[in-house]
Amino acid sequence: MSLFNVYPLFDITPVTAKDVFVYDENNCQYLDLYGGHAVISIGHSHPTYVKNIQEQVGKIGFYSNSIQNPLQVALAEKLARVSGCNSYELFLCNSGAEANENALKLASFHTGKKKVIAFKNGFHGRTSAAVAVTDNAKIIAPINAQQEVEILALGDLESLEKSLSKNDVCAVIIECIQGVGGLDESTAVFYEGIDKLCKKYNACFIADEVQSGFGRTGDFFAFQKYNVTPDIISIAKGMGNGFPVGGILVHPNIKASFGLLGTTFGGNHLACVAVLTVLEVLEKERLLQNTLEVSTHFLRRALNVPRLKMVKGRGLMLGLEFEFPIAELRKNLIYKHKIFTGSAKNPNVLRILPPLTIKKSHIDTFFEALISELS
Ligand code: PLP
Repeated sequence: MSLFNVYPLFDITPVTAKDVFVYDENNCQYLDLYGGHAVISIGHSHPTYVKNIQEQVGKIGFYSNSIQNPLQVALAEKLARVSGCNSYELFLCNSGAEANENALKLASFHTGKKKVIAFKNGFHGRTSAAVAVTDNAKIIAPINAQQEVEILALGDLESLEKSLSKNDVCAVIIECIQGVGGLDESTAVFYEGIDKLCKKYNACFIADEVQSGFGRTGDFFAFQKYNVTPDIISIAKGMGNGFPVGGILVHPNIKASFGLLGTTFGGNHLACVAVLTVLEVLEKERLLQNTLEVSTHFLRRALNVPRLKMVKGRGLMLGLEFEFPIAELRKNLIYKHKIFTGSAKNPNVLRILPPLTIKKSHIDTFFEALISELS
């Protein structure tokens, strides 16, 4: 059997990884400024992470959601404290798309309505409702296109109120900083306006923190820069440092009932230990602080880069927007300089999503390579 060929692949085979580096079968070292698509938060194969997961799999890796699992309770308590989202409740699933799928479904249950408002260049995943609210016609199949969705321009509060006032909208879903789209972010007035309008018209404000959460921007969540209280916060990616896990934080205004949501694998013992370890290491190693410090250094170094239009994003969720498409540059960074970076829907944006353990010296290595390619 061959693989269903949906991914264009770089011809590189990582076989081991350590902190900010991955190594191929010839032990060639690559600097990872991509984090496996914003997934690696506390560094590859962090010793505490390896130890805790090994120990847990030796005890019990999985049972089901029909028994007591104190690890889920411990995780909810720790996440509340570390994130500052104390009053929220936690539902666990397995991926970012699944988190948004559950968020949208819950918003629809809660409000009794079904239309969703999302934004231009937004990305929310590839499952049924999540892909329907994603602004990319190429990945929406006819079966997904049945959902009622309106895509608005980022920043357009006037159209948002016009639409919400018809009273058929269950949710407004937004990434406070866009990931796949190319790192665009609107203003405080806009995000705080969404918050107010959702409350006024009884729609749920869903903050998609799948990519921007768990410290990637230097805040635990990107929305925390603003004075907003989302009804639902979706999480995944950096949450498990590579272990497949996702979830939603649900505001206490939305009430749970038996059977409302459910999953077989979500919240299994191994996933809980992975996330508990991520939270432990984020705190112990002060990785949010490191994120801010390294980010400041990155921005300083970026001042001297030729043909660079601007740097977008926050913390270690960054995009370098050039005056030209970056595909060739990205290839040269990988093959010639052994540095992984990311691309975006905007073809001129090179994305930087390293493990949050990265140091200034690694950023210097990147800029030396980048400038040598551009001069
Ligand atoms: N939401 C955002 C903001 C994302 O960036 C992604 C993935 O890139 C998703 C949702 C979907 O997550 P997953 O690929 O885990 O389903």
